[in-house]
Amino acid sequence: MQIEAKNISFRYRENTPWILKDVSLKIEEGERVGLIGPSGYGKSTLVKILAGYLKPAKGEVLLDGKPLPKKGVCPVQLIYQHPEKAINPRWRMKKVLEESGMFRDEVMEALGIERDWLDRYPRELSGGELQRFCVARSLFEGTHFLFADEMSTMLDVITQAQIWNLMLKEVEERRLGLLMVTHNSSLAERICTRTINLAEINSREE
Ligand code: ADP
Ligand code: ADP
Repeated sequence: MQIEAKNISFRYRENTPWILKDVSLKIEEGERVGLIGPSGYGKSTLVKILAGYLKPAKGEVLLDGKPLPKKGVCPVQLIYQHPEKAINPRWRMKKVLEESGMFRDEVMEALGIERDWLDRYPRELSGGELQRFCVARSLFEGTHFLFADEMSTMLDVITQAQIWNLMLKEVEERRLGLLMVTHNSSLAERICTRTINLAEINSREE
């Protein structure tokens, strides 16, 4: 599979400057891409558009040449700083995972998800606990692309490392496409097969 952004332009409100202007990129499954660029340059905005959370004013996102599916669990999964926004507040965690068919004991164990959390609602879990569910869901079998945007801010250092290791193992074994927003160029060099600098592909005016 391939995901493609074609001539994307975006701003949060009309009559304000474009955050993203005429941005295009392509990522193939199996590639691991670091997205770098100055702060405030639209990296988070771009990954939200690529994952279908935000609609661009112009341009389109295509998965193998077709728009992202509107129903069901998306083959493009985004993990970002706000797990509470990515999970339906009216569903118990069990249902969140059932929807994605994600009940692999090995993954639950690696993420430190406890059985009794499954009966809770999102508001009954801490940010870090909720983030583990987002990661579990993101690894469902229909996932082809995994995007990570500063997902670790709510997790302690040891948990961060555990979760990263699990994700990277899945990315390698299943040859998922990975896009990670990062400020850490040595991390990107270690993990990624290439990097995209948003400043070089964003034609917005300064
Ligand atoms: P980056 O990830 O590169 O730091 P962001 O995509 O987070 O950049 O933000 C790009 C610009 O969009 C910033 O100027 C930011 O203030 C603005 N922005 C981000 N989210 C919103 C929002 N929900 N409403 C209005 N402006 C926003
Ligand atoms: P808001 O801007 O209202 O705070 P978000 O930008 O976080 O919400 O999410 C926008 C839309 O994307 C919502 O309809 C939400 O249900 C959906 N969404 C968020 N996370 C995911 C996910 N991991 N998989 C599928 N859809 C998601």
